[in-house]
Amino acid sequence: MFLLDWFYGILSSLGLYKKEAKILFLGLDNAGKTTLLQMLKDERLVQHQPTQYPTSEELSIGKIKFKAFDLGGHRIARRVWKDYYAKVDAVVYLVDAYDKERFAESKKELDALLSDEALVNVPFLILGNKIDIPYAASEDELRYYMGLTGLTTGKGKVNLADTNVRPLEVFMCSIVRKMGYGEGFKWMSQYIK
Ligand code: GDP
Ligand code: MG
Repeated sequence: MFLLDWFYGILSSLGLYKKEAKILFLGLDNAGKTTLLQMLKDERLVQHQPTQYPTSEELSIGKIKFKAFDLGGHRIARRVWKDYYAKVDAVVYLVDAYDKERFAESKKELDALLSDEALVNVPFLILGNKIDIPYAASEDELRYYMGLTGLTTGKGKVNLADTNVRPLEVFMCSIVRKMGYGEGFKWMSQYIK
């Protein structure tokens, strides 16, 4: 009973209570995907080494399935997640906001995803992670370098009924400080049926 309460607590705090969904976590290696999965799993930080090899990791909470893949360089991984995302409900794209040298590489991967016909209209939550580090990019800088200026759909509710717009928004966060990603998930959850 306690466990059940706890699961519902997490899901409802993410706005995902009672929903059934497949959610992809994508981004370059070292962006924080594994840390985020770990955080959703037991809400405490487990320090671990950055991922060494292309991997996929999975977590189920209630009826929600989260699956993470490293992008960039790892062509094998790309093929694997393509198999998976045939029926994906949302993409959470993580960017290391401190690693400005890799913004271009990350943008290239994001652009490929955004123009992929298999992901048409799938909501994208862009998480700019690691804002606890001084000199991490600001939200505006991240939008600019990721080519998203003017393309995001706003943090409120988008009326999808009369437009062909894909929900797309940037939220800055620090996963290790448990900051920011909750708001992002809440925003995203309104687009998951
Ligand atoms: P992945 O390759 O995308 O799975 O990235 P990881 O989750 O393995 O994280 C890569 C590194 O970034 C690890 O050393 C994490 O501890 C670190 N990291 C993840 N999130 C944050 C954060 O919010 N702030 C800081 N400072 N480091 C983080
Ligand atoms: Mg990882």
